[in-house]
Amino acid sequence: MRDDNCLFCKIIGGEIPSSKVYEDEYVFAFRDINPQAPVHVLVVPKEHIPCADAVDAANSVYVAKCFEAIAKIAKAEGLDKGYRVINNCGEYGGQSVQHLHFHLVGGVKLSEKIL
Ligand code: AMP
Repeated sequence: MRDDNCLFCKIIGGEIPSSKVYEDEYVFAFRDINPQAPVHVLVVPKEHIPCADAVDAANSVYVAKCFEAIAKIAKAEGLDKGYRVINNCGEYGGQSVQHLHFHLVGGVKLSEKIL
């Protein structure tokens, strides 16, 4: 199901252009418009799941498929030395687009960590 007011639903639907790197039945992935590393890809479920807090038994297959896609994209992008996957959830988590997404960042040795 999609949300017609959602930026990422519009990107998935092709109404807003993006730099696509991967797509399958469950997942759409594209380059972040404001990259924070040499590789910065947003991996997004095609189902409109607003945030990590809304993941449940009925939709968690989309999360699994996102991580299967992340492994494929990381290989395709040459991230053989490692990378980071980030999800921001809610106001305090710094989420700015209300459609679940995973930031895949890499291509350089990453330094800032909070965990
Ligand atoms: P977050 O702050 O975790 O919700 O991440 C949202 C991300 O979406 C940010 O890193 C933005 O740079 C990115 N973003 C916003 N609009 C676009 C767009 N049209 N195409 C690609 N990335 C976008």
